Amino acid sequence: MKKPNIVILGAGYAGMITASRLTKQLGHNEANITLVNKHDYHYQTTWLHEPAAGTLSPERTRMPINSVLDLNKIKFVKDSVVEIKREEKKVVLENGELEFDYLVVGLGSEAETFGVPGVHEHAFSKWTVNGAREVKEHIEYMFAKYNNTPEKKDELLTFIVAGAGFTGIEFIGELSERLPSLCAHYDVPREKVKMYVIEAAPTALPGFDPELVEYGMNLLESRGVEFKINCPIKEVTDTGVTLASGDEIKAETIVWATGVRGSSVIEKSGFEAMRGRIKVDLDLRAPGHQDIFVIGDCALMINEEINRPYPPTAQIAMQMAEVCSHNITALIKGDSLKTFKPDIKGTVASLGGKEAIGVVGTRKLFGTSANFMKKMIDNRYLFLLGGPGLVLKRGKNPM
Ligand code: FAD
Ligand code: NAD
Repeated sequence: MKKPNIVILGAGYAGMITASRLTKQLGHNEANITLVNKHDYHYQTTWLHEPAAGTLSPERTRMPINSVLDLNKIKFVKDSVVEIKREEKKVVLENGELEFDYLVVGLGSEAETFGVPGVHEHAFSKWTVNGAREVKEHIEYMFAKYNNTPEKKDELLTFIVAGAGFTGIEFIGELSERLPSLCAHYDVPREKVKMYVIEAAPTALPGFDPELVEYGMNLLESRGVEFKINCPIKEVTDTGVTLASGDEIKAETIVWATGVRGSSVIEKSGFEAMRGRIKVDLDLRAPGHQDIFVIGDCALMINEEINRPYPPTAQIAMQMAEVCSHNITALIKGDSLKTFKPDIKGTVASLGGKEAIGVVGTRKLFGTSANFMKKMIDNRYLFLLGGPGLVLKRGKNPM
């Protein structure tokens, strides 16, 4: 009998855990497994606010794929996915084509602009390793340039973060923590630097525990961050941002963090989607497709308790990967499929330095205890992917 071809698209949280589990659940003679990714490295998206602000080397956030997956058991293809030909059961890559019997789509997300013009042209919106490098280099260049321009323009030292969601808050936490050393290094007076976080909703971190939000905002304000709440950005231009009120804030640096939509490959491939995310069946298959699983940020599942989608998180992506790999193995071996139900253990957001805020189970955590928990969460992923060896090699010191 012909061995089925399993093709996994994307080596993020969803793709890596699926790949690692499938290579353990299926023998060489049971399936051909192929993993496709743009780069030959895997990165931890959840760490990227740190290299973007320059508080961690980008090298710490990525690892060669062949250092964590056994490439004798899985074929790795370094290429970019262009389109999924659903009916032909083919994937079009920039440099070729792959046929599949089972497909796992784990291509992650892209920046959501909500139609605000100018984002792609004038803001930094790519939460990838290269995107983070670009933000860091740009920030440092602004500091370096300031003293070398006779006008010493304020906008060179004005840093705007669009969106006070978790990404925006974690990024400004890192940047505000690094600011004193940046100012000292570039001989820039601290009071010349302006950091704004601009949020459309009536609060930062909408939906999060208000006491923790207050703690976080107070801490960030004490480091010089200015919040503009209830202030949707209506346009990004080459000189700054325009708010719904009509006011303009001039800035040479705008970091976009107003949420995400699923990979553009989804819509391009003709799947029915909401903001690029496919509303998957309970067994994580795309509706009407017995052989296509969609997991991670490309998948949408409704939380029936509040009748809203679960947020796209690494936590859910990893849990989906466990169920997805089980279900593909079950289809091949003739066993029964599992249904997916997220088990949300909590949410912890770092605020830079040794500060964080979070809820774990029913417990609220502030400051250093939340920071400890955040590092443990980061390390837990490494443990799930590569066991204690990977934690020792690549993990964070929780103290
Ligand atoms: P990703 O991990 O983004 O992986 C997608 C992979 O697909 C990447 O390797 C990419 O290179 C590859 N790819 C994309 N397009 C193509 C293509 N066309 N061809 C080939 N390869 C492609 N969630 C949490 O639960 N906890 C957190 O603390 C947390 N912190 C975050 C901090 C930041 C700064 C950000 C931006 C997000 C954070 N998130 C967090 C959200 C979390 O990172 C995502 O939900 C998670 O990464 C989704 O996993 P994924 O596998 O779907 O996508
Ligand atoms: P988000 O949706 O959580 O937050 C985006 C914010 O931008 C919202 O508060 C929204 O009101 C605001 N916004 C939207 N349009 C705007 C506009 N025009 N002007 C100003 N503000 C605007 O998205 P995110 O922060 O990008 O995070 C993406 C996903 O990753 C989420 O699911 C999040 O939970 C997850 N994440 C989790 C963590 C963590 O657990 N520590 C960290 C980062 C990201």
